[in-house]
Amino acid sequence: MKQKYLGDDVFEQIKDFDHHWLTKEEKLLIDKLILNKKLKERYKNHGLCWECKQPNTDDKWCNPCNAKHFQQNFKNWTSDNDDIDKFIQDTQLSANNYNKVLEWIPYGRFYDIKYIAKGGFGKVYKTNWIDGKIWHWDNKIQKWYRPYPDSKVALKSLNNSKNVRLEFINEITSHYKLNDSGGSIIRLYEITQDPDTKNYMMILDYAKGGSLRNYLDKSYNELNWEAKIHNLWRIAYGLNEIHKIGLIHRDLHVGNILHNGETSAFITDMGLCKPADYNALENTTKSVYGVLPYIAPEILRGQNYTKASDIYSFGIIMYETISGLPPYHDISHDKNLALKICQGLRPTFNIKVPQLIVHLIKSCLDANPLNRPSALEVRGILSQWDGDILRYSKKTEIEKQIKEADEINNKLQTNVTSTNLSYETHLEAIYTKTQQIDISQLKINDNDQNNVSKIKENFRK
Ligand SMILES: [Zn+2]
Repeated sequence: MKQKYLGDDVFEQIKDFDHHWLTKEEKLLIDKLILNKKLKERYKNHGLCWECKQPNTDDKWCNPCNAKHFQQNFKNWTSDNDDIDKFIQDTQLSANNYNKVLEWIPYGRFYDIKYIAKGGFGKVYKTNWIDGKIWHWDNKIQKWYRPYPDSKVALKSLNNSKNVRLEFINEITSHYKLNDSGGSIIRLYEITQDPDTKNYMMILDYAKGGSLRNYLDKSYNELNWEAKIHNLWRIAYGLNEIHKIGLIHRDLHVGNILHNGETSAFITDMGLCKPADYNALENTTKSVYGVLPYIAPEILRGQNYTKASDIYSFGIIMYETISGLPPYHDISHDKNLALKICQGLRPTFNIKVPQLIVHLIKSCLDANPLNRPSALEVRGILSQWDGDILRYSKKTEIEKQIKEADEINNKLQTNVTSTNLSYETHLEAIYTKTQQIDISQLKINDNDQNNVSKIKENFRK
């Protein structure tokens, strides 16, 4: 008869083995006792659950036992919204590791709530969470093991989310799907509700470096090429994770990419992140949400969002990370700028930038979405450069070009901080406010598209 589960006698014989470091004799015994391939695989990878005496389903995680613990607690909490309750309960019942668990946390479990920023659709706060994230079930004390009490987290509210539950659920769904994305997307932990405003709030990883823009303002002059490319690679990695599961971010800009202040950037703000086929359902309002310099020209013309329009936004983020300057920082961000972007205007560098990098940015910013690379291709190129620079072989093309650029820039003595002093207040207005552009006012005719080729080269050769 096929072995469906381990008998108590088997458990007793193997319970003291270290599944990671089995001796020869132990291995032989396991082969003899566990005949079912799947059970054996699970045992070898994740060890035993001492509660049900079966192999774990993930490291320190037994899905059936943990689902039972969560289920027993369902009666003790509610978000006062059936859809949100159901969403959280489903994650708890299906979770195969702690990354996939969401919880409902009463607002009272947070202290020192401090406002940090206003996003496109809500506010962001930093706070301390008394309990901290669940890691695994502790069978001895019959409680969840939470190794980091009083941990710093970010709270993100959605404006009027008490009325727009659908949007809120959309955002938490997108975030949740990406909780396994190799740390390139800010992780969603929990959901809570502000008792005064009744707004629902998401509890996310706290990034101490703030937004990528904050980080560039503070640290740009200390960033070498290696750090810039590494950050861009992380962002491209996250974007590819989003595209891989069929979503489009739709609102990618430096304000909603966060930085941990050390080596890594993360994508966040999934408010507009929607399935690639969402356009079909969208009503045809002639308005665009987003931050103007990052919006692809075809979107300004009223076309639908695509993965390629995310790549355009990424191209602008590349420009910004490499130059340190916000795009079009010296001109006003009005409908004239929108028109010029449609006619082919792109940001320009005031430093020498390796031709390979210029080429990648230009292809991301190509007026024709079909000519732009995919997120996977961009990730691949940046990953290659990241590796090349780290090896210090000085033989690769990117290294040669970087060396050459550094020599020229040192002679130019271009100091970015001397040119960007005035945009601080300007920036507030651009990056924290979601602009709504009335496309009908742009009156772009089809000839503009033909003019693109005539527009002079914007990047320094
Ligand atoms: Zn179990």
